Amino acid sequence: MIHDTAGKTLSHTAMFSTAFLTSRYPEPGLVPEHADLVYVRDNGVYIFPGPPATLFPGMTSGEPDLPVHPVHYLGHRDTAVYYAAEVPPGTAVSGGTFYPNIRELYGVLSDDEFALAAFAVRIVDFNRTTRFCGQCGAPTRPSRQERAKICDACGLVTYPRTSPAIIVVVRKDDEILLARSPRFPPDLHSILAGFVDPAETLEEAVHREVKEETGIEIKNIRYLGSEPWPFPNSLMIGFVADYAGGEIAIDNNEIVFAGWFDRDHLPDLPSRMSISRALIDWWIAEGNNRSG
Ligand SMILES: [Zn+2]
Repeated sequence: MIHDTAGKTLSHTAMFSTAFLTSRYPEPGLVPEHADLVYVRDNGVYIFPGPPATLFPGMTSGEPDLPVHPVHYLGHRDTAVYYAAEVPPGTAVSGGTFYPNIRELYGVLSDDEFALAAFAVRIVDFNRTTRFCGQCGAPTRPSRQERAKICDACGLVTYPRTSPAIIVVVRKDDEILLARSPRFPPDLHSILAGFVDPAETLEEAVHREVKEETGIEIKNIRYLGSEPWPFPNSLMIGFVADYAGGEIAIDNNEIVFAGWFDRDHLPDLPSRMSISRALIDWWIAEGNNRSG
């Protein structure tokens, strides 16, 4: 959820937040018989076609006939308990489909199942990439006390990695700074974003990214909200800032165009799934509130 500084909720729920789950540690020693399994093959999840499409079997469809090993605890919601079930790569399926790209399931699955799907893929990936200790090379085992892998040989504990990235609305009078990455589809523009360097504060990262990508100076940085972006492991941290000086000069590398846009002349914007769009919509609403 994104809040403005007055505490008013903005019209965006973090799509990939699994705040509805409670992690109960230590984990159940055995997988409960009634557990709900999210089947993950490679980076895709198994979908029952529906309608509506769903991660879980209904009254008439049983569990899919798939070899599963191993399963990973995700969390509880009330009496439900969720696990990610790892299916070997290349396993054939019947009845349903493995969707390789979680983002394509936006609007197909319910919002909660959409977040669960992304979470399950992340946790399976975490397990796959930490089977051996990064320090001594011995096999690891999952902790039952927290979400971590333990090396019994040298004692190293490995946690899922989260990479913080800042994203910022830069305002100048009634205009917003929008830019185009060479990776974007034609005409799509968005606000500036970038990863936080080690030993850098979030505010420093905001100043540095805006300066590096567009050459301008900013002031009055304040926090707006955050969104997990598990592709594979980002946490987007959203800010608003005001123009303070300088002329736009792009590097033609990360950014191929940057410019100021008013609310009546906006280009194509990112999809409503993204925090970038939620922040741009926040800025649009801010103008409406002022003039209304
Ligand atoms: Zn080790």
